[in-house]
Amino acid sequence: MVRIAREAGCSVGTTTNGTLITEEVARRLAEELDVVGISVDGVTAAIYESIRQGAKFNQVIKGVRQLAAAKREMRNDGYPLVSLLFLKNRRNIHELPDMVDLAAELGADEVIASNLTYIANPAFDSFRVYSLNGASPEYLAIIEEARKRAKERALGLRIYPIEPKRVGFCEARPFDALHVTWDGFITPCVYLTLPVKGETMAKVHEGESFRIPFTRFGNLKESEMLDIWNSEAYRMFRGPFEERREICKGAHFGMTDDGGFDEILLEMFTAVGRCPLPDVCYGCYKALGI
Ligand code: SF4
Repeated sequence: MVRIAREAGCSVGTTTNGTLITEEVARRLAEELDVVGISVDGVTAAIYESIRQGAKFNQVIKGVRQLAAAKREMRNDGYPLVSLLFLKNRRNIHELPDMVDLAAELGADEVIASNLTYIANPAFDSFRVYSLNGASPEYLAIIEEARKRAKERALGLRIYPIEPKRVGFCEARPFDALHVTWDGFITPCVYLTLPVKGETMAKVHEGESFRIPFTRFGNLKESEMLDIWNSEAYRMFRGPFEERREICKGAHFGMTDDGGFDEILLEMFTAVGRCPLPDVCYGCYKALGI
């Protein structure tokens, strides 16, 4: 699949929990890919293994080292970009600055500290570190320290905000991107067709539990991608996102170099508010830049 995509001129990346990286796998990843994201949600075995149950911290760290070494040996173009993916939550956020040190020591290129954005179960709601009521000063200090260390080590660091920002549209950019599920469904983003069974998906937003339908506009086993993309239902879904993009045209916003999003101007934010998002996007933290 990677080869087909490369031959078509695409940049190709993958994300992995890293548990199956051996020296041979590392060499193949280094040879074929442009980006490899590896989930490393802690710098100590205790924290990491309490979050990634069943995975072994030392094994994953060895895999990252092998990948960085294979990249140095096999490529002279700086690729693949080796990103360590750190899903911030209450259990691990205090390890974020040390994560920066570890990434630099392992030879990774960047750390991406994302948020627990889709919450399917009330029990997980207490794990998020962002809040619509303002950011915790303690967490902000941790983030500041991580930024300082990344700068000192010249390591890439992207930290998603822990308080909502005025953004024009979500990072999924449904007006010019789409998501294909493992079984061929076309959906605007990963959050609208989760790999779960049933007719609807559970969602929790600010303590409120509800269910949303799967949003799928066709399946590649039955239709061509462009026919699905141009279908009336899909165009109607994209409408508000396209209007929002028009309103924000020329504005400097989106992911910033050191992470998070620049806010858009208040008047733009007021204007995008007149283009309500589809009902299925209700309660999506991505629409708030989280
Ligand atoms: S607002 Fe959220 S649910 Fe809607 S398209 Fe964007 S990321 Fe997906």
